[in-house]
Amino acid sequence: MADNGDRVMCHACGGVWLLETGEDGHDTNLRCPHCESDATEIIEIPPKPLRQNSKQNRIRRQ
Ligand SMILES: [Zn+2]
Repeated sequence: MADNGDRVMCHACGGVWLLETGEDGHDTNLRCPHCESDATEIIEIPPKPLRQNSKQNRIRRQ
């Protein structure tokens, strides 16, 4: 169940990375790997994403 597509977004630098969950179920990498800020937010991506072209700017690709 680890590969569910959840990601973490950093509010400080805008970086996004894959969320990793440890064996005990705790999230292991909530700290930003880019700027080491902990002002991060988990982005839950549904398993079957809807195809919508517009109005979904939550994740910025770099
Ligand atoms: Zn950051």
